Amino acid sequence: MKHRNVKLSLFIISCLMMVSSSFATPPPPVQEVSSEADIKAALSGGVPSGRWKEGLLFEGVSPMPWLQSAANWFPGTEEVQPNEMRVTFMGTAPMIRPGQMNTSIYVELGNGDNFVFDLGEGSVANYVASRVSLNQIKHVFITHLHVDHFGSLPYLWMFGTWAGGWHEPLTVHGPSGRTPEYGTKTMVEGMKMMLGWHRDAFSVFPVGQGHDIQVNEFDFRDNGGTVYEKNGVKVIHWQRSHAKDGASGYRLDWNGMCFVWTGDGRPSKLDIKYAKGCDLYVTELQQEVVEINSGVQGVPPFLARYTIDTHHTPAYASGYLANQIKPRMFMTTHMSYDPYVAEETVAEVREHWKGPFHFGAPDGIVVNMTKDQIWVREGILPDFPNSRAPQFDFTNGQLIVPHPTTSRQEIQEPFVREQQLDPKVYYPKGYMPHLLENWPVKGDLVVPLEALPENLRDSMGGAWRHKQKNLKVLEEQKKK
Ligand SMILES: [Zn+2]
Ligand SMILES: [Zn+2]
Repeated sequence: MKHRNVKLSLFIISCLMMVSSSFATPPPPVQEVSSEADIKAALSGGVPSGRWKEGLLFEGVSPMPWLQSAANWFPGTEEVQPNEMRVTFMGTAPMIRPGQMNTSIYVELGNGDNFVFDLGEGSVANYVASRVSLNQIKHVFITHLHVDHFGSLPYLWMFGTWAGGWHEPLTVHGPSGRTPEYGTKTMVEGMKMMLGWHRDAFSVFPVGQGHDIQVNEFDFRDNGGTVYEKNGVKVIHWQRSHAKDGASGYRLDWNGMCFVWTGDGRPSKLDIKYAKGCDLYVTELQQEVVEINSGVQGVPPFLARYTIDTHHTPAYASGYLANQIKPRMFMTTHMSYDPYVAEETVAEVREHWKGPFHFGAPDGIVVNMTKDQIWVREGILPDFPNSRAPQFDFTNGQLIVPHPTTSRQEIQEPFVREQQLDPKVYYPKGYMPHLLENWPVKGDLVVPLEALPENLRDSMGGAWRHKQKNLKVLEEQKKK
């Protein structure tokens, strides 16, 4: 007791010291105002021809005032603004390794819509680190069926459903093949078969419409055709030359801004035609360092040469394409992010392209874009983040948890359940949780928002509330 009193009085003394010290230093005294000429000279000193136009980044490449840090993006600290497009590189390499998952690009729009372009193996970890709840992802556009571009789809489908993806099925958009067996539909059918056990097992959880996956397979030859059009968002596609028929590039247009991800392929006239004038142009590249790569990776150089010349975009060609397309920002991804090729990459790109350029690598690079400004930062993705709560549309004022479609009794023979240890033998004396061995609700669980604890209402309705706020602003802009 005495000890606690000492602690308390120490606390009071330190508080008093803080209060008194905040009054200790007086503010600087008011001085005579500088002359208008001096102020002007200081604020515009060094500005060439009355406005800055310097380096290779030009005007419009600058951080927005709402960014928490101009150098870094910390997930969960900034909301996408009503007129903004935010693009995050969630996977950036064909060769998966820590720091560079397989290719995936996340596009978020100010109207609350979001789109995933490719979903390579491992990229889901970066979505989680970026505080994207897996049940927020509803549209995945696959450029082609190399596994480094869709490997995480089975995981997203199963765990996205488990994590609250109950009310809207996942839609996979992707190209047809020259014959049906090489199309996206067949890939998804194969995935359904592969996940037969998993789907049935997870049906002891709420599933709702989560397991009704949709496929939007488009004719890969229909160059310029529309893949998706809704809420003022339009996505078109075109063919890429990537050794096998079906590989496609995508262009998304919304609110007077445009994003292109070409996927993999050889440089082509079609890229120039369909990406022309796009604000943010992203392609893949390979540097002219096959001999050096051979030394690094210990494989004969002809393998790299052959792979590039049949499948990929040389860095020189990527710069050439950028110079034809003339984007506000040119970025490259699906590239190894190593010191020994970084300088080389820039030099090769710069052979033709003198405008704004950044690497879309390593993982976590984020681009903020409005009509006037564009800015690229490094995202700080934690290694051990907690996943964001599932996000629900609370427009109807209810949280609805669908009843599971099956039970343990239906999918498991009794024998193995009877072999389970009696909990009494392992829980310590005096402790016995009330085991929940059967789903505790009869039909769908429907909870009015008022009955939901405030913390759950906040955590699960965050994205919905933000979307309502942005839509209001966009609506008012339309009226003006
Ligand atoms: Zn690839
Ligand atoms: Zn590929």
